[in-house]
Amino acid sequence: MIKPFAEPIYVTRPLLPPIGEFCEELESVWKSQWLTNMLGPSHKKLENKLKKYLKVNHISLFNNGTIALLAACKGLELTGEVITTPFTFAATPHVLHWNRITPVFCDIDPVSMTIDPKKIEALITKKTTGILGVHVYGIPCETGKINRIAREHKLKVIFDAAHAFGTEIDGTGIGNFGDITMFSFHATKLFHTAEGGALTYHNGDLEKILYYLKNFGIKNEEEVETVGINGKMNEIQAALGLCVLKHIDDEWKKRKTIFGIYKSLLGSVPGITVIDIDSMTSIRNSYQYCVIRINGKLFGKSRDEVHMKLRKFNVFARKYFHPLCSEFACYRNLPSADPEKLPVATTVASEALSLPFYGGLSESDAEKICAIILS
Ligand SMILES: *Cc1c(COP(=O)(O)O)cnc(C)c1O
Repeated sequence: MIKPFAEPIYVTRPLLPPIGEFCEELESVWKSQWLTNMLGPSHKKLENKLKKYLKVNHISLFNNGTIALLAACKGLELTGEVITTPFTFAATPHVLHWNRITPVFCDIDPVSMTIDPKKIEALITKKTTGILGVHVYGIPCETGKINRIAREHKLKVIFDAAHAFGTEIDGTGIGNFGDITMFSFHATKLFHTAEGGALTYHNGDLEKILYYLKNFGIKNEEEVETVGINGKMNEIQAALGLCVLKHIDDEWKKRKTIFGIYKSLLGSVPGITVIDIDSMTSIRNSYQYCVIRINGKLFGKSRDEVHMKLRKFNVFARKYFHPLCSEFACYRNLPSADPEKLPVATTVASEALSLPFYGGLSESDAEKICAIILS
């Protein structure tokens, strides 16, 4: 008889460095008497450290990932229609809508679960200005194919890398593909600043454009250059980021161990697929999520049944990403949102389950979660 967990186990828990380390960082913020507006020392320091960690040439920090993505669309002057995936967090299509752009949902690849390049071209119209791909669960989109399509049709490419902090392809940081890549530093993400985000890019000209966009468009005391927003990361966020970054490799290693347990106990069960990014050659995994797919017919229990069963044992796994964004009331009437046009995404959304996954999860708890799933 397996007993329920005494305390609820959630899908994630934020990486919290020792409070003393944060206080030390805060002392330098206090000394500087500079709390925000991007000129503070913590902001600059975090920018430099992240540039190195992510192996990118240019980075702009933001107050959260959604505003960063909003600014990316505006910075690249996207209009009309942008082709994106329905298998993502709500923020992805929402930033398009906030830019008065119509999201055009494209089906996903059955294995990588990222936007299917084979299905993109059929969705391109005269109004299409860009492609917004998501490295879902940290699995990289087919960046080469997407960039090729974009070049041929003169489209811009943005990648949502909210799940892909530290992901690399053949040693190249994931922030180097497409015109702009967005990272989220929300508390639930591997690296975080409580709330926060960043954009990375190759074209240095974007730096100034994005700077204006996140600071009300202000050029100087006399001139406002463009319709900007308040997207600035503040010094407290940056100070927290500096602390969290010191512990990120340790967290990553712990997650790798937990992943190994899930993989060994669930990996060969008929009807269960453990999404194993490490098995995809030349990719460094972000270990943002540990996701399984459940084929109800083969396993004998559906994803929803497993989800409910875990709840009875005080385990709160999450059905990321169900419902699909194309099923939201605000998008379901779009022609591209028709489920018949999104068969793969519809199936995957009914099978995927994100298991509790964070460095602080004990190995025995991970083993028990597997036992509950299999009981
Ligand atoms: C978390 C997340 C975002 C939004 O990031 P915030 O920093 O919370 O605004 C965007 N896209 C995806 C796929 C996410 O998971």
